[in-house]
Amino acid sequence: MAQARKLDCESVSADCRFIIQSENEDEAIELAKKHMKDVHGKDFTDDELREEHLQVV
Ligand SMILES: [Zn+2]
Repeated sequence: MAQARKLDCESVSADCRFIIQSENEDEAIELAKKHMKDVHGKDFTDDELREEHLQVV
């Protein structure tokens, strides 16, 4: 079974319930990056997202 990557935006922004889950890490990072920028106006690098925010589920 492939491991999925999950980003729970609540851990970044307390009042956001957005959750990204994907079995493709690149896709999860891409979606997370877009969400952070579009919704929260924050720029994260791929490494920051991968190392600090994505959970393996
Ligand atoms: Zn969010």
